[in-house]
Amino acid sequence: MLLVGNQNSLRKQLLTFLGVSIALLSLTSSIVAAWIAVNQSRQVLEHHSLQIAGNLAHQSLLSLITESKENAEPALDQAMAFNDVSGVAIFTERMSLLQQRGEIDWQSDNLPVWFAEEQPTLAADRADHWIITAPVYLQEEQGDYAEFELAGDKEQLLGYVMINVSKDSLQSLTTNLFSYNLMIGLGFATLLLWLQNAGLKRITRPLLNLSQSMNEARSSGEHNYAKVEGPMEVRQIAESYNAMMQVLEQQEDKLVKLNSGLETEVEIRTKELTHARDTALVAVRTQSEFLANISHELRTPLQATMGYIELVIEELEDEAMDEPVEDLREAMRASTRLLALINMILDLAKCESGKMELMPQEISLHSLTQETEAVIRPLASKKQNTFKVYLPEEDPVLQVDKEKAQQVLLNLLSNACKFTEKGTVLLSASVDDGFVVWQVSDTGIGIPKNQQNMIFDKFRQIDGSVKRKYGGTGLGLAISKHFTEMMGGALDVFSETGQGTTFVFKLPLTAPADPVSQNLLSKNSSSTDLEKL
Ligand code: ADP
Repeated sequence: MLLVGNQNSLRKQLLTFLGVSIALLSLTSSIVAAWIAVNQSRQVLEHHSLQIAGNLAHQSLLSLITESKENAEPALDQAMAFNDVSGVAIFTERMSLLQQRGEIDWQSDNLPVWFAEEQPTLAADRADHWIITAPVYLQEEQGDYAEFELAGDKEQLLGYVMINVSKDSLQSLTTNLFSYNLMIGLGFATLLLWLQNAGLKRITRPLLNLSQSMNEARSSGEHNYAKVEGPMEVRQIAESYNAMMQVLEQQEDKLVKLNSGLETEVEIRTKELTHARDTALVAVRTQSEFLANISHELRTPLQATMGYIELVIEELEDEAMDEPVEDLREAMRASTRLLALINMILDLAKCESGKMELMPQEISLHSLTQETEAVIRPLASKKQNTFKVYLPEEDPVLQVDKEKAQQVLLNLLSNACKFTEKGTVLLSASVDDGFVVWQVSDTGIGIPKNQQNMIFDKFRQIDGSVKRKYGGTGLGLAISKHFTEMMGGALDVFSETGQGTTFVFKLPLTAPADPVSQNLLSKNSSSTDLEKL
């Protein structure tokens, strides 16, 4: 509709422009034509009036020679017979009135100026009349009056004649000419406008049809072709538009084909992916179950072995055999480490198979932190570290899985003690916006920036070489991260190499209803890593 409106307005605009031009042209030409006609009529009337005055002068010779009013009558009658002549007068040579007929507007003061010319002349041009004067001469060759002697020269001034020519007919002619010309002009302009309108309609119809086709294509979304018609430019636009429509149609066909191909492709890929995911899920579950079983199988004999070692140690101590006791104690320490490793692997396998369960219980922040502190304090003193604990004054009751929260804290603190020598290890707790926030800081070796993301990966250690200075499995932080996320919390690290490390461990004050699900196929659970187990 918008395009159609514009098209109409184009025709209207052209029509208005042409209409105004035609009206102005007709008006100007009719006024100019009327003005020229009036001017010529005026010149004809003036010339005619001068002739009448000339004739009157000739007719008045006898009356002026005889200075007889009766002799003047025929000449005056003849002049008055002309339509526009409304008054006539004859004056003697001394400018005194001899005879007058009709209306004539003269005063004796004007006479010397009016009678100054030697020819019939327009003496005064008034609003509604002219006054024309002419001198009356007796000339030598005028045979009729041969008996009157000339004073000496070849011509002798006898008097003057004056006629009053009314402008009424000229004025009515002017009015008529202007009004008829205007009427004709207007009529002509109307006719031209009507013709223009019809012509414009014919010229703009193809443009209008074209815009309608475009408009329909736009609103319906279909590829409407336009009719190629009308002037050359419009035909060219229509042809270009049709070519564009054709290209669009071809592109759309291609798109439809591509789309249907893509859909099939996506369907096949989805099926493949679903199959791969199911296989992976089964594999992960099988691996986790295998690990859980194997850990159990390893743990039971290991624990039995440790029990026997304990018994043998006791018996050997009774018999005061110190040397083998020391060896057995070393075997006991190795077994304890092995048991811890098996427990960690078991925990990780449970987390990754989604079998790890949360057992929330109520415990105050102070008791949980202080219990942890008691376990870690002997470890801190081993490397001559100062161990400080800061607790907030408030002591909210937390609803957390105490074992897991403690395991995370112990792991962070034991790492802090392990990687710090003769420094400070700090444990602080605070409550912030529904969360309890523990910070474990140390002034130890720190972690390079580019490695800070990796330390949460399982089996990942900054120094993983065989000759490494610090022991460990590389599992503690991976399990801590799993536990934290299960409990709806967050675990982050901030560290500078050589300056120290701070771990921020956040847990909600109230445990989530369900443990936050762990993604079985996350990077921590990739098959390559599981294979490493
Ligand atoms: P590990 O048993 O090796 O300590 P973790 O998962 O607990 O395993 O830690 C992974 C690695 O992160 C460590 O081997 C160590 O390189 C680095 N790390 C953890 N805590 C600290 C710390 N406080 N200071 C320096 N490095 C640390």
